[in-house]
Amino acid sequence: MSRPTKFVFVTGGVVSSIGKGLAAASVGALLEARGLRVTNLKLDPYINVDPGTMSPYQHGEVFVTDDGAEGDLDLGHYERFTSSRMQRTNNFTTGKVYEAVISKERKGQYLGATVQVIPHITDEIKARIREATIEGGSSVDVAIVEVGGTVGDIESLPFLEALRQLKLELGPQNVVSMHVTLVPHIAAAGELKTKPTQHSVKQMREIGIQPDILICRTDRPLSRSIKEKISLFSNVPVDSVIAAIDVSCIYELPLALNAEGLDTKICEQLNIWSRRPDLTPWHRVVERFKTPQKGATTIGIIGKYVHLRDSYKSLHESLIHAGIAHDCKVELRYIDSENIEKQGAEAILAGLDGILVPGGFGDRGTEGKIEAIRWAREKGVPFFGICLGMQMAVVEFARHLAGLEDANSREFDKDTPNAVVDLMEGQRGVRDKGGTMRLGAYPCTLQPGTVAAKLYGAQEISERHRHRYEVSNEHRELLVAKGLVVSGTSPDKRLVEMVELKDHPFFVGCQFHPEFKSRPMAPHPLFAGFVGAALERAMARAGRSAQTAKDSQPHSMN
Ligand code: GLN
Repeated sequence: MSRPTKFVFVTGGVVSSIGKGLAAASVGALLEARGLRVTNLKLDPYINVDPGTMSPYQHGEVFVTDDGAEGDLDLGHYERFTSSRMQRTNNFTTGKVYEAVISKERKGQYLGATVQVIPHITDEIKARIREATIEGGSSVDVAIVEVGGTVGDIESLPFLEALRQLKLELGPQNVVSMHVTLVPHIAAAGELKTKPTQHSVKQMREIGIQPDILICRTDRPLSRSIKEKISLFSNVPVDSVIAAIDVSCIYELPLALNAEGLDTKICEQLNIWSRRPDLTPWHRVVERFKTPQKGATTIGIIGKYVHLRDSYKSLHESLIHAGIAHDCKVELRYIDSENIEKQGAEAILAGLDGILVPGGFGDRGTEGKIEAIRWAREKGVPFFGICLGMQMAVVEFARHLAGLEDANSREFDKDTPNAVVDLMEGQRGVRDKGGTMRLGAYPCTLQPGTVAAKLYGAQEISERHRHRYEVSNEHRELLVAKGLVVSGTSPDKRLVEMVELKDHPFFVGCQFHPEFKSRPMAPHPLFAGFVGAALERAMARAGRSAQTAKDSQPHSMN
């Protein structure tokens, strides 16, 4: 029997986007570095059953788990900072909780009771938190539970109430409440201000939760006297007032919080005896990020949601990981594909060392993406297409190399005579939008001798999917005859999962989303390959020996 799980609750105050997700992920990293088994949960107070139906502009990236859940992007931070694998149970919303409670009520499972927020909704929340503490058949040592939103929001109240109850039930030696707040610097006064933190803690106490630890986001160090002031007004011991000074690299956050004594405090309160954390891999990652030795390469991300960086969170991080592996700086340019339609590929893309076309939905800007892909193919510029990016690469190939000038994806032209990308068989009758795509991990078999097989160093791989359309088998033979290499398929060979081109420095597309599986200390092979090729181009362009780049194999940072 494993010991019962202990908890770290993470709430936020003062403003949204305060970095609760990264703070929660960093706690996971630190506890794991002490040898503990951890998991992270995200509780989202909005009413959508999951973020899958929300626009990326509203919500940022939708993170997909192996078991096919569409989750909050914080799940991506949790997976990148710890070795825990997120599942459907690690993220739930008000909508999901109500859906379950109402369904039980309709079945008569409440035996005539009046169904209420307390206790029925809060019980459901508590049961779901407990459910997520079991991983691989046994309970984890510590579960870090982050509640979305800001204290004071009406909709987060049932979640906070559930946390209050859990702490009462489990006892203070089993639960730490960590509250993330902002300590702003007011330039005109030349002072750091503690009042927003005081008010935020006051609100927490009004709903019955006394924070044990405060994580104070700030742009400069907090003096002892500021910490004492915060301590006095918030009833939090001064040693538990932790400064989280802005970091230039997110992977520095575990180091910064460790230097402030955060993990020691958490373990003390939870009465956990553990070894001192080994943070060497984190130090190495940060050092490589800050002082790359092999120059820089510039990559263009050609998309639609370029104005909200959170839409491409995992993608962004995967490119950074690949840069760390190659010991080079990766400069990222987010390019709106509609600008390529207006000004032409050369005007916008000249100067880039690599072109990445990521996933997406809807036809706005797709012609610009196709132009960008053509430009990369013809100019020998490294290209990496993910999901929609691969589908567009197939359309580009069909139009310009296979003689199907009117080729398109059925998603953008219902009546196209040459739908080289078409709705998947299983998607035809589907009307509901939520949770109905092809989602989650599927196996893929790689063709020996291809770039894909070389990069993975394996023949069987598993990657995560989120799409409705696929490369049509009707045109597959023609495309292959014209030179498109199908380098990965489903094991039964029916679905095209990867394509590539010969005689090109790097031209690879995949139907899945490799960005969900890249880690700072274990970069994803496809991203490593792509960034390696882009670095080679950057070096060649800089007139330096391209050979050096070729020799620079990516290193695992473990
Ligand atoms: N819109 C495309 C599809 O549904 C691509 C999806 C994606 O890029 N995630 O197949």
